[in-house]
Amino acid sequence: MKFDRSGVNALMEITSRPELVFVSGQGSWLEDHTGKRYLDFVQGWAVNSLGHCPPGVVKAINEQSARLINPSPAFYNEPSMELAKRLTGASCFDRIFFTNSGAEANEGAIKLARKWGRLHRKGAFKIITFDHSFHGRTLATMSASGKPGWDTIFAPQVDGFPKANLNDLDSVRALVDDQTVAIMLEPVQGEAGVIPATREFMRSLRKLADEKGLLLIVDEVQTGMGRTGKLFAYEHSGVTPDIMTLGKGIGGGVPLAALCAREAVSCFEHGDQGGTYNGNPLMTAAGVAVFDALTAPGFMQEVNARGQQLSEGLLALSAKWGMKGERGEGLLRALLLGRDDGGAIVEAARDWAPEGMLLNAPRADLLRFMPALNVTAEEINLMLKRLDDVIAEVRG
Ligand SMILES: *Cc1c(COP(=O)(O)O)cnc(C)c1O
Repeated sequence: MKFDRSGVNALMEITSRPELVFVSGQGSWLEDHTGKRYLDFVQGWAVNSLGHCPPGVVKAINEQSARLINPSPAFYNEPSMELAKRLTGASCFDRIFFTNSGAEANEGAIKLARKWGRLHRKGAFKIITFDHSFHGRTLATMSASGKPGWDTIFAPQVDGFPKANLNDLDSVRALVDDQTVAIMLEPVQGEAGVIPATREFMRSLRKLADEKGLLLIVDEVQTGMGRTGKLFAYEHSGVTPDIMTLGKGIGGGVPLAALCAREAVSCFEHGDQGGTYNGNPLMTAAGVAVFDALTAPGFMQEVNARGQQLSEGLLALSAKWGMKGERGEGLLRALLLGRDDGGAIVEAARDWAPEGMLLNAPRADLLRFMPALNVTAEEINLMLKRLDDVIAEVRG
């Protein structure tokens, strides 16, 4: 296939993309328009939890698309109820609202918290979020995010998202006032560079929330669905959040996300929340297939074993190249490069011949790894070996 310049020019230019078109994928491998293969440790930004085109998900989509694609959200459908039952059964939550993106799930979480504040906390509406956090690209979720510069691009912001510092309880406590209704955080800050909230911090936030009558909201769009070695990252600290959002890996690649809430917080009334595509059977059928794969016996043990292997391999690379170590949970990890050559490494890995490799550098001084959760030990070893070669080339 030829690279199509007129096609490129017909798209809005929203980011800089390399001059290649991916045409097919299988497991941890992608193939571009020239037939070149790439080992993929980005997986659509932690979206393809079972790799590219996993047979179980392909089958579920094929079968569901032949049966029923969308009866409208005004009616019940089987796959959405099946997936909701599975999610509530596996978590501390009682009610699910399906959305089409993580940002939309977070918008729902914000609306639900504000509604709850109106009903139970005299109209309290402020949600304490964190510096460097990422919650999405809608106006409210950009306002909730702590990404530098995001407060001004589309000003004025949505009001009511004071920012605290991650793992600093006093900075949270200092922001609580009569108008505060919730605290919202990622259990591991993903876009910020894979920075985990400590277990102690999570427990202290729960305590503070209980003390002050606030809701604890976890944005598990990136950390949920097995990514950190447990089905949900909040389980690591043993806290019980009031609201959780899921996205990315929940659909195995298709647009599916979810707002999950405990019964006492599920206070939407008819007309408060909805959406044309929300909970459609085609996407939720894919979600059921993903859920059943992640919860099959032995699956999470394997995720933890691969996470351990990746962690050790990255540590060895760090020692060899005089880097600053690695961090993360499960199969969401970062290598701290100690220099700002993350972009150069990502590019060199992609352009490597005859086979390329996809890596991600959310910040110039680190690489983030988000392989398929069913990545094999051999694929991890191959990635580590190639990364070593790439670093050797980039650092001369
Ligand atoms: C990716 C991400 C989002 C946004 O999800 P979209 O599906 O891109 O809207 C929100 N929160 C976190 C933690 C994320 O990683």
